[in-house]
Amino acid sequence: MTDPQMIENKNRTDEEDASIAVAEASRELDWKSKSFIASLYMGELDTSMCFPFPEQDEADRKKGDEILAKVDAWCAENLDGATIDRTEEIPAHVLKGLNDLGLFGIKIPTKYGGLGMSQTNYMRILARVSHYCGSTSATLSAHQSIGVPQPLKLFGTEEQKQKYLPMLANGAVSAFGLTEPNVGSDPANMTTEARLSEDGKHWILNGMKLWCTNGVIADLIVVMAKTGVDKRGSREVNRISAFIVEGRWEGVEVLHRSRFMGIRAIENGVIRFTDVKVPVENLLWGEGKGLRLALTTLNDGRLGIPAITASGARNIADFSARWGKSRYQWGKFVGEHEAGADKLARLTSGAYAMESFAQYGAALSDRGDTDIRMEAAAAKLFNSEKAWELMDTAMQFRGGRGYETDVSLEKRGEFAVPLERGLRDARINRIVEGTTDVMHLFLAREALDKHLRLAGPLLSPKTPIGTKVATLVKCAAFYSTWLPKLMLGGLWASYPGFEGELKKHIRWVNSRSRKLARTLFFQMVIQGPKLEMRQLVLGRIVDLGVELGVMALVASRAQTELKAGDSSNLKTALHFLSTAREKVDGLFAAIGNNSDKEARALARELMEQADALPEPKAMGEILTPQPREFGSDMTSGRQTKRLSEGGTSPSAGSTSAPVAEATSEDSEVAEAS
Ligand SMILES: Cc1cc2nc3c(=O)[nH]c(=O)nc-3n(C[C@H](O)[C@H](O)[C@H](O)COP(=O)(O)OP(=O)(O)OC[C@H]3O[C@@H](n4cnc5c(N)ncnc54)[C@H](O)[C@@H]3O)c2cc1C
Repeated sequence: MTDPQMIENKNRTDEEDASIAVAEASRELDWKSKSFIASLYMGELDTSMCFPFPEQDEADRKKGDEILAKVDAWCAENLDGATIDRTEEIPAHVLKGLNDLGLFGIKIPTKYGGLGMSQTNYMRILARVSHYCGSTSATLSAHQSIGVPQPLKLFGTEEQKQKYLPMLANGAVSAFGLTEPNVGSDPANMTTEARLSEDGKHWILNGMKLWCTNGVIADLIVVMAKTGVDKRGSREVNRISAFIVEGRWEGVEVLHRSRFMGIRAIENGVIRFTDVKVPVENLLWGEGKGLRLALTTLNDGRLGIPAITASGARNIADFSARWGKSRYQWGKFVGEHEAGADKLARLTSGAYAMESFAQYGAALSDRGDTDIRMEAAAAKLFNSEKAWELMDTAMQFRGGRGYETDVSLEKRGEFAVPLERGLRDARINRIVEGTTDVMHLFLAREALDKHLRLAGPLLSPKTPIGTKVATLVKCAAFYSTWLPKLMLGGLWASYPGFEGELKKHIRWVNSRSRKLARTLFFQMVIQGPKLEMRQLVLGRIVDLGVELGVMALVASRAQTELKAGDSSNLKTALHFLSTAREKVDGLFAAIGNNSDKEARALARELMEQADALPEPKAMGEILTPQPREFGSDMTSGRQTKRLSEGGTSPSAGSTSAPVAEATSEDSEVAEAS
């Protein structure tokens, strides 16, 4: 197999090489369309891609409004986030109620029994549910953002869709299993394995998945497993494939339910697969395409976090304004002290920026013709980081009451805003669906794509001299026009439609985008292949592009609103643009003036002196299978039966049958239905 994108780098170890080879093999090589965010790293601000700011289509908005009204009314009546957080359980009646509203099939097409909603409406619904309970929105999101419905919709065969989509739309809970004890951000060392049976009818699946959200109750799990190795040059890399695995099948066991700091009621745990017979028809898309499937699914899937965090930020910003003019200390309301005013302004303008990114991503996704890999990743990175920053700001502004739980506040007669719970719930967003560090690497790779395609062969010592010369000629042709354009390109850019202060900011974004492209280019020239190891420099470059992107979106949205006669957000937008300028200036300054070298040296010394942690015990040996029955109830009607018996989730200490028994019962029910 050829490896056109894999750039050799002698600074890497063999293990690093293998990990990068797996990551490169799962990248989408072709770009479906031009990317707004990617263009910024090449020094091009194309406002036609974001201005006028995209608005939800009227008919689609109406459809969304109708379901949102129902969801809101139902949540207000039934979704008690404080109790769910305290008990660490989502009650059965809640899951049943969500299912009755159709919320397990929001984006599943109506012909398969789903609601057939757009990405925008999906995100609006998730955001609304998260307003009441973070655990519940995480459950819905894990099911639909990364669980079975989305990859099945994108890559399933018609037979697979007909078999599973109606089940999923009718409340069968799904999960996504990639992570393993030794497979976190890096899937290269995956040990879960599937091998074809001798008769060629089944894949025999063995292994263990960690932190599989919904896995504890799931009817269906997308499981990533290695199905062999591929040769990539002189290297062997795991061939990773995706399978639809039914939770009721023999050999699927829940070994542990994990407990967390926030989103405490998610049914997340360790799932073991022992000689599970997966019919060959349940391979998704094709052998070896598992990681590419996961990445493509995440293009839309990653937009769930921006939506949920933007809605949380809006809530805390609105609440903080009320707090700012109610709490009186040192002769003034706390919002009148300059330090308090700054926090209020940052909260509301940060929320506006987060909403803009989430709405933009949703609109691009619904258009369907746009490559959104960078926009979705950038929105996830920006919103998850900003959410954490704003939660911390709001807590500081609220003082001791921010640290007190909502239940305790209510008991002593105070307004029970769940800031403490919100902060705990928000933290996970910087870790899941790509940690912040990994999003930096992902975005850096995509930002460099154009340069690597052009100049990549020059970086490899193995490139034949003839190819090197041809590459040099190609590079000279491109860079001799591109570089002068970066210097002068902004002089005649006019940005029709933008006015006043907003136009000035757009001009500034343009000039800094060209500076960003120059910086990236010069770093490539100065550092050469070592740039790959300079993660902090790359991180700053990535953050610069993201910040400039969100600045353009904020200016575009505010200008579009102004054109429609709405100036209510203008001050908010201008405040965000000013603070973002400070951040951009700081990031540029830190590229040349930083403590990266000292940090590397200090960390090396610290690790030399540190003892390694004790080896973890083998989980399969210390954990025993747990009862599981919950997910299947939803489709079979046993949910109703258990509700009438007053039952709750089995993991709340139920005495229900262990896996093997549940399996046979579920099979009967599945056959009957
Ligand atoms: C609540 C929760 C829900 C989850 N749900 C799911 C799920 O449904 N399905 C699933 O498959 N997984 C799930 N996960 C796993 C999650 O995706 C991983 O935690 C995440 O991918 C990071 O992996 P890790 O925790 O092993 O960290 P590691 O990969 O061990 O990383 C540790 C630290 O090192 C950094 N790091 C790693 N590699 C690099 C690098 N190359 N350069 C610089 N820094 C690096 C990371 O950013 C992190 O800060 C969940 C986890 C949690 C806690």
